[in-house]
Amino acid sequence: MTKPTFHFITLFPETIQVWMTTSILGRALKAQLFDLKIYQLRDFSEDKHLSVDDAAYGGGGGMVLRIEPLVKAVETIRKEIGETPTKVIYFSPAGKTLNHALVKNYVLDSKIDHFIFVCGHYEGVDQRFVDHWVDEEISIGDFVLTGGELPALAMADAMVRHLEGSLGSDSAADTESFSLRLGQSTLLEYPHYTRPSEFRGLGVPEILLSGNHPKIESWRLEQARQKTLNRRPDLLTPTL
Ligand code: SAM
Repeated sequence: MTKPTFHFITLFPETIQVWMTTSILGRALKAQLFDLKIYQLRDFSEDKHLSVDDAAYGGGGGMVLRIEPLVKAVETIRKEIGETPTKVIYFSPAGKTLNHALVKNYVLDSKIDHFIFVCGHYEGVDQRFVDHWVDEEISIGDFVLTGGELPALAMADAMVRHLEGSLGSDSAADTESFSLRLGQSTLLEYPHYTRPSEFRGLGVPEILLSGNHPKIESWRLEQARQKTLNRRPDLLTPTL
């Protein structure tokens, strides 16, 4: 991947704008590590009331996002970016569950430069759009949210953290949970402590105050291994 561009299609552009321009993401955007485009779905409606939804065929209540504005949005973006490798992702509880491997694969191994993130709302989107214009459906877990904005932001955020230079020098993606490695296993991160060294009788592990960095590193790795063994043994290879 060279520099990714995230294209968000949403009914609530302001929610995307706030998160993508704050903290680490905001700094990475300013540093031009990625590009950001946010599209209001209503701008692609050809209806005089700018409506984008309608009642579901078959009844049962609830509104569904209509196919025409969704297709127009995707085709407009595709026209703007030309032949560049692009993936259209629709966020849906029925999608493949987002995890570290999927995020990393998109950042490090894929040749995709443009991600078109489609954020659903109401009951979801017309299935014909999913079947013919979407490359992948992604879920962030077995629960239902009001819209696809949080899932789309979760994926973009997780991806940006893996872009070189995004975390600055004092923090590295490779010591974080799921990246930290011990042999073939990936680990959850070790615990952190900061000042004061004592609070209401609660101290911090002596080793962290010792200044002995090789010993601190091995203590941290052992803490990470123990934590992973207790909480996520599925991440460890059988020998650990
Ligand atoms: N009727 C849908 C169902 O039962 O599967 C849920 C629709 S939900 C209220 C509205 C939108 O939120 C969806 O179109 C999708 O874009 C998004 N969404 C909700 N939960 C999600 C999840 N766990 N992962 C990804 N997207 C989700």
